[in-house]
Amino acid sequence: PPALLLREVTKTYDGAHHALDRVSLEVRRGSFLAIMGPSGSGKSTLLHCAAGLDTPTSGEVLIGGTAIAKLGENQRTRLRRSRIGFVFQSYNLLPSLTVEENLTLPLRLAGTPADRRWLLDLVERVGIAHLLHRRPGELSGGQQQRAAIARSLAARPEVVFADEPTGALDLDTAAEVLDLLRELVDDSGQTVVMVTHDPAAAARAHATAVVADGRIEHYLPGAGAEDLAA
Ligand code: ADP
Ligand code: ADP
Repeated sequence: PPALLLREVTKTYDGAHHALDRVSLEVRRGSFLAIMGPSGSGKSTLLHCAAGLDTPTSGEVLIGGTAIAKLGENQRTRLRRSRIGFVFQSYNLLPSLTVEENLTLPLRLAGTPADRRWLLDLVERVGIAHLLHRRPGELSGGQQQRAAIARSLAARPEVVFADEPTGALDLDTAAEVLDLLRELVDDSGQTVVMVTHDPAAAARAHATAVVADGRIEHYLPGAGAEDLAA
C-alpha cells in the first residue's frame, strides 16, 4: 500500500464552508511531497487530517494501508506515536530534557524498545551525534530542527509530516535542513509530506500539491520529479 492515501476527504468546521473539499491524494513510499497554497486554503487542515490529529467530516485516510478512522482511540494514539513522525516550525523540543532524552521520549511513550543501532546511525546522519547531552536551549535553530527531525524518525515511522519545518530558520540553515530531509528520502526511502510557504523548500521535494480553497488544484514537479516518473 502507499505510505499515505486520502480518499475524498472533506472537512467542514461548524457546518460552514468546506476547509477541505473531497481531497484525494496518494503518497508513495520513499517520496517527498510538498503542500503549498495561500493562507486559509486548507493546508493545515489537510496535514492534520492526514496525520490523524483531526478527524475528517467524510472520506478516508490510510497510513500504510491502515484506515485511521477504524482504529479506537488507543490504537490511534499508538499509530501517531509509532508510525507517524512530526516536525514543526517551532521544533517543539522539551527544554528540560537533553537532546537524547527528547529523541527517545516518543519511543518510551509508545512502549517501543529503542533500536540502539538505528538511533546511533540516525544521529550520525542527522549530524547531531555530538549534541546528545546538550539541552535544546544550548543549540542553534538549525541544530534544534535537526534534533527534531531525528526525534520524528526515532520510531522508524512510515510517514513524516513536516509543518513549515524551515519557517524559523535563516536561508542557509533552511537549505541544509531541506537537504537533510531530501537525503533521508533518497537514501533511506523515508516518506515525507511537508507544508511550506517557501518555493525553494518545495523545489527540494519530488512534487508539490498546490492547494486552493480546500482542493488540490494541481501538482508541480519538484527538483527530483523525474525520480518518481519511473
Ligand atoms: P497557517 O496559515 O500557518 O496554517 P493558521 O493561522 O491558518 O496558520 O492556523 C493556525 C491554527 O489555527 C491551525 O491549527 C488551524 O486549524 C487553526 N485555525 C485556523 N483558522 C481557524 C478559525 N477560523 N477558527 C479556529 N481555528 C482556526
Ligand atoms: P491554511 O493552513 O492553508 O492556512 P487552514 O487549514 O488553517 O488553512 O484553514 C482552512 C479553512 O478552514 C480556513 O477558512 C480556516 O479559517 C478554516 N478553519 C481552519 N481551522 C478551523 C477551526 N478549527 N474552526 C473553524 N474554521 C477553521
